[in-house]
Amino acid sequence: MNTLSSPKIVNMIAALTGHRDINLLEASLLKTVDDLVAPEWSMIFHVGEDDIPEFSTSMRDGVVSVTAGPEPFAELFGSEGVSSFPIMSQAHKVLGYLLVRPSPSLSVSQQTLLSNLFRVYDNYLSVLKDSQNDRLTGLLNRHTFDDQLDRALGLIRKAYQENAAIGNKRKVGEGTGCFFMGEIDIDHFKNINDRFGHLHGDDVLVILARILQNTFRKTDLIYRFGGEEFVVIVYVDDRNDAEMTFERLRRSIEGHVFPQVGKVTVSIGITEIKETSIPVELLGRADQALYHAKTHGRNRVCFYETLLARNEIVLPDTGSEARPPAATAG
Ligand code: GH3
Ligand code: MG
Ligand code: MG
Repeated sequence: MNTLSSPKIVNMIAALTGHRDINLLEASLLKTVDDLVAPEWSMIFHVGEDDIPEFSTSMRDGVVSVTAGPEPFAELFGSEGVSSFPIMSQAHKVLGYLLVRPSPSLSVSQQTLLSNLFRVYDNYLSVLKDSQNDRLTGLLNRHTFDDQLDRALGLIRKAYQENAAIGNKRKVGEGTGCFFMGEIDIDHFKNINDRFGHLHGDDVLVILARILQNTFRKTDLIYRFGGEEFVVIVYVDDRNDAEMTFERLRRSIEGHVFPQVGKVTVSIGITEIKETSIPVELLGRADQALYHAKTHGRNRVCFYETLLARNEIVLPDTGSEARPPAATAG
C-alpha cells in the first residue's frame, strides 16, 4: 500500500459519508477499500434474521455487483488469506461482514487502517438507518419513501423486463410477478386518541406496524407514510394474490385485540404498479381507492383498477393528486 496523506484519507472519509443511500454507501466502502489496499476482491455479506448471509455486494476490477444466496459466504469465510470484519449494529448485533482477499496479505498497519475505516462506515450507517426509519414504529419513514420511490420504480421496471425476458415466469415458483402499492389508513383514529389518550394511540401504531411486518415478506417495502397512514410496495403473483394479501392484513388487524383499545380497523386502497407508472399518479390512484373504501363503510380493501373498470371512481373533494410534502412520521 502506498503511504496515504492525511488529505487523501479525509477525502476518502468525505466520499464514504457523502451518500444518503445505503447501497451507494456500501459501494463507496468497497471502492475505498480498493483504493486503500488494492485487494484481489472485497465483499459485503448481509446477515438475515436467522443469522444466515442472504446477499452480498462485491467489487472486482472496479465493478460493483450484487448477488443473492449464502453459498459463497460459507466457502470464503475463514478460508486462508481472507480477512473478515464484522458489521455491528448499535445493539452489538452482527449485521454482516466485510470480507477482503488481499494480495499479498495485509500488514498490521493496513488491518488497523481498515478497522478504523470500518468504524467510520459503521457509525455513519447507523446514523443513516436512524434517519431513514420512523422513530415510533421503526418502519421506513416518509422521507425515505420520497427518496426511494423513483429508484424503486426503476428497479421494478427492470424486474418486469427481466420477467418478460424469462418468459414471464417468476424465478421462484410459478406465475407472473407483479408489483402493487397499498395505502393503509386506520379508521377513526382520532376517536381512539380522544377516548384512550395519545399514548395508547401510539401503542396502536406500534402494534399495527408489527402486524404489517408479519404479514408481508422481508423484501416488500413498508413505510409509515404519515400519522396513521402506511404505504406498502409488494411483489406478488397477480392481482388476485395482491387482493388476498391485503385482505389477510385487514382481517388480522380486525381480529387483533389491541391492549386497552380493543378493536381497530383499517381501510386499504391498492393499485397496480405498471412499467410506465410515475409516483404522483400511483399515489393518486391508491388515494382514490382508499377514499372509496372510506366512503363505503371503512374496514375494507378497494382496488383502483377494479373500481375503474366498474366506473366507480369518485374524486375526493380535496383532490388527491396534490400530496402534501413529507410530514409528521419520522
Ligand atoms: P378516518 O377513518 O376518516 O381516517 O378518520 P381518522 O380519525 O382516522 O382520520 P383523521 O385524519 O381525522 O385523524 C387522524 C388522527 O391521527 C389525528 C391525529 O391526531 C392522529 N395522529 C397522527 N399522528 C399520530 C401519532 O403519531 N400518534 C398518535 N397517537 N396519533 C396521531
Ligand atoms: Mg389519515
Ligand atoms: Mg384514519
